[in-house]
Amino acid sequence: MPAQDLDQIVGLCKRRGFVYQSAEIYGGFRSTYDYGPLGSLMLRNVKDAWVRSMVQQRDDVLLIDAAILGPPQVWQASGHLANFSDPLVDCTECKTRHRLDKLDDPETCPNCGTKNSFTEAREFNLMFKTQAGPVEGTGADAYLRPETAQGMFTNFAQVLQTSRKKPPFGIAQVGKSFRNEITPQNWIFRTREFEQMEMEFFVPPAEADQWYEYWCNERRNWYIEHGVPSDMVMLRPHDADELSHYSTGTSDVEFKFPWGFDELEGIANRTDYDLKAHAEASGEKLDYFDPQTNERYVPYVIEPAAGATRAMAAFLLAAYDEDEINGEKRTVLRLHPRIAPYTIAVLPLSKKDTLTPLAHDVRKLLADRYMVDYDETQNIGKRYRRQDEIGTPLAVTVDFDSLDDNAVTVRDRDTTDQVRVPIDELLATISARLGF
Ligand code: ATP
Repeated sequence: MPAQDLDQIVGLCKRRGFVYQSAEIYGGFRSTYDYGPLGSLMLRNVKDAWVRSMVQQRDDVLLIDAAILGPPQVWQASGHLANFSDPLVDCTECKTRHRLDKLDDPETCPNCGTKNSFTEAREFNLMFKTQAGPVEGTGADAYLRPETAQGMFTNFAQVLQTSRKKPPFGIAQVGKSFRNEITPQNWIFRTREFEQMEMEFFVPPAEADQWYEYWCNERRNWYIEHGVPSDMVMLRPHDADELSHYSTGTSDVEFKFPWGFDELEGIANRTDYDLKAHAEASGEKLDYFDPQTNERYVPYVIEPAAGATRAMAAFLLAAYDEDEINGEKRTVLRLHPRIAPYTIAVLPLSKKDTLTPLAHDVRKLLADRYMVDYDETQNIGKRYRRQDEIGTPLAVTVDFDSLDDNAVTVRDRDTTDQVRVPIDELLATISARLGF
């Protein structure tokens, strides 16, 4: 049974070192979070799993890492300076601020319930503006990127030239984005600083519809392949009135959050809008000449745009479970082995000196390939529970018999089944179990 309440996950994550409120020693910085020892490993795994599927396992997508700071020209051309805003209303009764487009009832304040208490809607630009230069007030304006996507458009020609790819091909990027959200909420679901995983797939215009369908399905399946039950993720095509003016089709992958189905990722057919806008503004040619057909064209773009931090919230919520082992209640995160912070825990049965050297040898053997947690505190039952609660798929126990038989016990998080495995077969056994 996945988590029904966000607080179940928020509490566990704080207690176990996944996600903390940022600057908590100063009272906390609202809507900003730090990823602790487990959260940073898990977030990295989410991003690695995305890169593995989107880049490593394909031959048509290239990875880049573009700058976070950018000059106004980029955001002028992309339309963000003019249009990247949300309609903002203030309640004159209780002084709370809301996004008009996210209100269930645009006439009633969700905080105090007053009707018709809102100010006129104002457009609020979501970009963080700063100054690049040594003296305050004299530097050039710069912006923190509100999405990673523009880096793929501004580098299109360079990547095309250096990689010798031809459409259909994609450029992918993972990294931080910043939006001055009016109503950051729901923990790491909507924050002002977050991480995105985006890919721009450049295609001949005639193939755009077919690739759009392809990426919609691929992206929904990605979550399922990484452990989200299929009834918790769905594709929701946008209605005509939701579509951006340049998009001929957009679908969201939605996840069943405790507050209902909500966006995890958007897949859009962005046509040739972005490349044309940047070509016009920069004066550079951003098109493709096909030597086989002697045709020059501006590729259409299919964009799957996901949030890494939001995906992490979804993976945690979906993985949460409570069950009973030998009459004792336990909390378990049934995370996919590629997503779990630690893949394996090495647990010597006792802290005695006689066991420690062998336990460390086993840890070293495994840590060469996997992220391993080594824990020798408390009794073994409590240590298993801790590993279950942080989602570690396998625990390897080194006991006194191990000194004689050179074997260890491998325990499965989900079934709690245990098998004895010779140490010299341990790596092979584990890799067969995990599939990597
Ligand atoms: P929303 O309507 O939820 O604000 P959006 O449609 O503006 O999101 P996109 O611009 O399509 O979002 O961004 C792509 C993805 O980036 C989103 O699906 C989400 O996973 C992630 N994302 C966007 N804004 C945030 C945020 N403030 N905090 C965390 N993740 C975000």
